[in-house]
Amino acid sequence: MMDLKDLVRPNIWALKPYSSARDEFHGSASVFLDANENPYNEPYNRYPDPLQWELKERIAELKDVDRNSIFLGNGSDEPIDLVIRAFCDPGIDTIVSIAPSYGMYEVASNVNNVDFRKVTLTPDFELDAEALLEEVDEWVKVIFLCSPNNPTGNSLNRDEIYKILKNFEGIVVLDEAYIDFSAEPSFLPELKKFPNLIVLQTLSKAWGAAGLRLGMAFASPEIIAILNKIKYPYNVNVLTQKQALDLLNNEGQMLEQLRRIMSERIRLQAALPELPIVHKMYPTDANFILVNVGKADSVYNKLVKKGVIVRNRNNVTLCNGCLRITVGTPEENDALLKALKSL
Ligand code: PMP
Repeated sequence: MMDLKDLVRPNIWALKPYSSARDEFHGSASVFLDANENPYNEPYNRYPDPLQWELKERIAELKDVDRNSIFLGNGSDEPIDLVIRAFCDPGIDTIVSIAPSYGMYEVASNVNNVDFRKVTLTPDFELDAEALLEEVDEWVKVIFLCSPNNPTGNSLNRDEIYKILKNFEGIVVLDEAYIDFSAEPSFLPELKKFPNLIVLQTLSKAWGAAGLRLGMAFASPEIIAILNKIKYPYNVNVLTQKQALDLLNNEGQMLEQLRRIMSERIRLQAALPELPIVHKMYPTDANFILVNVGKADSVYNKLVKKGVIVRNRNNVTLCNGCLRITVGTPEENDALLKALKSL
């Protein structure tokens, strides 16, 4: 990896972040007249803890990582944007990613006026590390990978991911939003070996809290310090911090929901290929299944008329004719199968 100082944009390296005086006095003071808050209206009259220490402590325990290796944001979309802003000079630097994949990497690059290059996966949705590394030149500062990948559902080949971690001098963001549904292990234990790795996870999928907006980035304390420096001071609100802590303290509930989703995934994987309209079903390590239905626009519109909404991925790279179907409750999945059968 390049020296972090040479990778970060110079203005960010030199940045003096906004600081609130509150944090250092927690526990040692009882009268807070420093932040122009209304003294009434508990529990959200006070600004939240800017660095979310209590929540991070629980996440550190759950994920077996150091607290200083965790960044928390308003969904994982926030660290996606912050990584680009920290490492890529607008109009100069470049990001490389894979196609098809999660759309926000490209949108966030465009918002930041950073050139975005996509390397198409192989026809069976595998990552070809050599092909990707061929796209790397001196302007490429960040590579975005996603495993299990959205919208294909498969986990990327681990050896190919290692090749990129070993051979790329910049930052590698590995988005593991769907890791809890996967049989493959997370790359979190690899953080110690690869100082250029940032792993993203979220409470939006297996933890069942998309509405709370809590995304997690895991990386070296040095990278985390840079993200903390440039985030908005109170990026995770009081209610989200509290609810997220309650959720994470109740891992059993998540595991029970995960068990149900996995068993419904197995049921859908058995039922979908039996339907004449399904030409092909792809393997999945996530809570969704990609199926080729031929005329995807028409099938999509017919499903909409029956009140069943899936994600139309027609015209997306390698996904022509495909719909991406989220695994729902048994009742929702029955409704989907019934609607597909009646087309
Ligand atoms: N990464 C991937 C691969 C996703 O599919 C999604 C959500 N669709 C996200 C990140 C965004 O997650 P969050 O809700 O944490 O912003």
